[in-house]
Amino acid sequence: MEIKKTDFLLTLSIIGLLLLGTVGSAVAVRSDSNHNIDITDSAGCKPLAEPEAKIKNVIVLVPDGCSQSLETLARWYSGKPLELDNMVTGTVSTYSTDSVITDSSSAATAFATGYKTTNGFISVGPSNSTVLSTLETPPEKLQYRPLATVLEASKLKGKATGLVVTVRASHATPAAFAAHVYERDNENEIMKQMVYENIDVVFGGGSSYLVPVSEGGVRTDGENLTKVLLDRGYQYVDDRDKVMNLTSGKVWGIFASGHMASDINRPYLAPNQPSLEQMTGKAVNLLSQNKKGFFLMVEGSQVDGGGHANDPIYSVTEFLAFDKAVKVAVDFAKKDGHTIVLVFPDHNTGGMTIGSYSDSNYMSTTVEDVIGPLKGMKLNSIGVASKIGKNLSSENIKTQIKTWWGIDATDDDVTEILKLYNNGKGFPLDYALSEVISRNHTVIGWTTHGHDGSDVPLWAYGPDRLTGHVDNTEIAGYIAKEMGLDLNRANSRLFVEADDVFSKDNGDGKLDKNEYILDMTNSSNPVLRIGDAKLPVDENILVRNGITHELEGIVVYAPVTGKVYIPAEVISLSK
Ligand SMILES: [Zn+2]
Repeated sequence: MEIKKTDFLLTLSIIGLLLLGTVGSAVAVRSDSNHNIDITDSAGCKPLAEPEAKIKNVIVLVPDGCSQSLETLARWYSGKPLELDNMVTGTVSTYSTDSVITDSSSAATAFATGYKTTNGFISVGPSNSTVLSTLETPPEKLQYRPLATVLEASKLKGKATGLVVTVRASHATPAAFAAHVYERDNENEIMKQMVYENIDVVFGGGSSYLVPVSEGGVRTDGENLTKVLLDRGYQYVDDRDKVMNLTSGKVWGIFASGHMASDINRPYLAPNQPSLEQMTGKAVNLLSQNKKGFFLMVEGSQVDGGGHANDPIYSVTEFLAFDKAVKVAVDFAKKDGHTIVLVFPDHNTGGMTIGSYSDSNYMSTTVEDVIGPLKGMKLNSIGVASKIGKNLSSENIKTQIKTWWGIDATDDDVTEILKLYNNGKGFPLDYALSEVISRNHTVIGWTTHGHDGSDVPLWAYGPDRLTGHVDNTEIAGYIAKEMGLDLNRANSRLFVEADDVFSKDNGDGKLDKNEYILDMTNSSNPVLRIGDAKLPVDENILVRNGITHELEGIVVYAPVTGKVYIPAEVISLSK
């Protein structure tokens, strides 16, 4: 058993080096400095100490889906420097293993775990069937394997952890810090894993993913995770006043059934929801009560929505709301002195430009040309589409655009909008509205409704700032090094392949203590059984002889390979 375990640790380390080696030597070097594969030295004299860390806290802030051009536009729009303007330190490359253009899940996997993966995967190893020609084929053992994140490694070190977003908490970016599935759309499973991850603070939307269909939610496994959270000692809050009144303890604050309202729409459509700035301040306040420090990820989630819709006012207002959250983090870091604030988009979205095909006279573009049309906008395109509602008459469309955007839409604009919308068979109405109005009434250009594969800016505050051009995988290694975390050790502590330490049930009718079986009797709630111990998949629970043990990590099942991964402590607990 012992030899097998050592083999496993070595294999994992080699896998790590192989994959990191494919993305540039700087990555391998950086990762190698943090590359302990065993906790005792070879002579067995004394345990090696954890790497000494001078940094106690790391706050990562991600403005999802933008580029430097949005920082420029936001500065013109607000008329003053941004908090981020003082913080530019470098650039980040973002490609995934199967595309030059990443999606949010593989991007977040890279900076949360240090491994590149396949688009759509949430902190599990890449499929080796679709790999860019410039990369080596990832090793078999890495495929679909759960990968430890900096948030999970922070927990192992006794630090507090938090996730703050304005989309569903189970959306790709937050999910990649605290869940392990190969389909980002499987948000029911993601939410369950997140609930059992023992995160101290979770703020965002998505309450419908906590509640079963029978009680008005979307969960098909019959589980009420809100009840689970309360049973596990969490406070559960659902509006701004309740969250702002919290003074201590663990909390889930879920403020919408789906995504939260966009920043610009909140006063009109959801005045009881907190802002990103308020949620960030409260999260820092709660997490910083842990003497051992904390890891917090804050996502300006809907910056990406502005890019996808090609909606300049949506993009700008989300980015400025995000910049306020950055200021909260930096103000804390200034006082604290042992905190790093690291900011970077996961990718660009929309390919926004200042200047466009409809702005042929760029030699004399005025400030008013750039921001004038945006200044009259009181809602984003989602808000205007909701005001238009089902009444798609030319008169109503023109009236709502005039009322909420201050723009006199022409008959040609309305014809274009309705053509793009195509009676609900084309673009969503908000995309159609913003694409046409942005093209015909502003000097802001767009090149795609999707993502863009170019590098993104890196901003940082604090001691030992990350600088220069880095790959997104290097960010995880940097955070780990600064906080004294060991991601390789976290991998071998949290995700042991059950096959490496136990045998599959031999079918003799009884399950010996070194045998395991995945019990699919209830297919929406599979249970791993090892001897007489039961471990529900996606939970951090081991039940044996009527006694429930809480584990330091969750049980993960990879359906494509049929493999099950368990925390290493299960090996001793099941003996
Ligand atoms: Zn994204």
